[in-house]
Amino acid sequence: MATVKRVDAMPALVEQLLTELGEDPSREGLRATPARVTRALRELTDGYDTDVAQIFAGAVFEQDYDEMVVVRDIPFYSLCEHHMLPFFGACHVGYLPRGKVVGLSKIPRLVGVFAHRLQLQERMTKEIAEALNSAVEPRGVGVVVEARHLCMEMRGVQKTGGQLITSCMLGTFRRDARTRAEFLELVRRA
Ligand SMILES: [Zn+2]
Repeated sequence: MATVKRVDAMPALVEQLLTELGEDPSREGLRATPARVTRALRELTDGYDTDVAQIFAGAVFEQDYDEMVVVRDIPFYSLCEHHMLPFFGACHVGYLPRGKVVGLSKIPRLVGVFAHRLQLQERMTKEIAEALNSAVEPRGVGVVVEARHLCMEMRGVQKTGGQLITSCMLGTFRRDARTRAEFLELVRRA
């Protein structure tokens, strides 16, 4: 597989990167670093290897429940695709079932799979919403993501802090102001 080949190439690339940074890759403390960085980057991008449909396989159930389901404060860690630096925070996911519900552990799993790719927060938010929407076919889906971006916080003169908040509303969450308001009310800190 192509993946196996990339595992072999990466430590040498990291070693070269260390040299470019003015380091001596052969010094004691850095000797295992190329292998460690490789393992860390593989882990943090293992979302590419996961088929999203597989997450929901066997976990979507017929259920006569039509109240809003909300999973709040799902922690996530991702890497921004512009700088490959971490952005992280909390994701809130809600949906309004239409005869089908999904096993609750699957929603954090879904967030994790999209977070473990090089991402834009805006796109990740939309991908989570759309994946849930096509798997469960609910009346609507809402996703809110709040995150800190280290590429903003660590770089530059201004050290811009604060959270970036993105949202994606589909179906009734988009069309119906009351549904959206109920969701945002549930998501807001108690
Ligand atoms: Zn960035």
